[in-house]
Amino acid sequence: MSYIEISNLSKSYGKIKALNNVNINVDAGELFGLIGPDGAGKSTLIRIVTTLLLPDSGYVNVLGYNTREDYKKIRGEIGYMPAVFSLYSDLTVQENLDFFAGVFGATVAENYNLIRGVYHMLEPFKNRPAGKLSGGMKQKLALSCALIHRPKVLILDEPTTGVDAVSRRELWELLYDIKHQGITIFVSTAYMDEAKQCDRVALIQKGRVLGVNSPHGFAQMFPHKLYDVYADGIWSFLDKIRALDTCKSAYMFGSNLHYVSTDDAETTETLTNKLHQIGLSGDVDIKQINAGIEDYFIRQLTENAELS
Ligand code: ADP
Repeated sequence: MSYIEISNLSKSYGKIKALNNVNINVDAGELFGLIGPDGAGKSTLIRIVTTLLLPDSGYVNVLGYNTREDYKKIRGEIGYMPAVFSLYSDLTVQENLDFFAGVFGATVAENYNLIRGVYHMLEPFKNRPAGKLSGGMKQKLALSCALIHRPKVLILDEPTTGVDAVSRRELWELLYDIKHQGITIFVSTAYMDEAKQCDRVALIQKGRVLGVNSPHGFAQMFPHKLYDVYADGIWSFLDKIRALDTCKSAYMFGSNLHYVSTDDAETTETLTNKLHQIGLSGDVDIKQINAGIEDYFIRQLTENAELS
């Protein structure tokens, strides 16, 4: 059964089409990611799914309830962690938890098992006002508060934006634990590398869904030969590399360069020769590699940007 059914959904703000005929189904038990750059429409979609905003057309059902008519039922069954910190800064960690549990008629003790993984990191600060926590700790408290009534579906809007690398990793580990406790998760992010952590992903840009697939499924759809190139100072040759006759695209990937070739007959030798010809000297380390989900996303986002 689909726990979240998003059908032909559109939403505009004046002339800005924030969502353009979006269709997504999230199945029970999935950890589903919504991935897209800033301004793609992620928050708008999440605010509609969480019943905080009405669409112009199309509909969303959550757990079989319609967001327009049955919003009260949905609000009782979902946990929501918005992008901006939305807890009571003057209340302590413990008071915030008690408050959110109380709103839903639950108690912290009842659902302690569910939040134990998150809460044990917060416990030393339980008497500290929420506003005085670090960014990572604020996220963990927000997550605890979103879970405290044991929702069936947990919805998170860019929980890792602006969070340090360690807290990002910790947050994804917590999401795994929560999923394994039987909670369906719908999470948005602008970080492409986080797509790998999801069961399935929808790639969104400029209000359009460019594809829905598993990370592996996306990576397998990459249609060209791809090379990973390492050479000292290679970034300064980027323009010349992009002008090569077989270059479909070339972009930095960490300290290496990914070269997408239009030529099925390309080999590491032909590419090495071309790079030498444009003046890249010294050791050039080239390997043909299988594309990852990020390579597929970069390709789709670039092509979609060129089309519109
Ligand atoms: P994301 O969460 O992916 O960054 P948003 O849903 O916030 O995307 O925004 C999608 C588009 O809608 C952007 O162009 C944004 O500027 C615009 N937008 C979002 N909220 C509003 C609003 N309240 N009024 C006008 N435009 C908005």
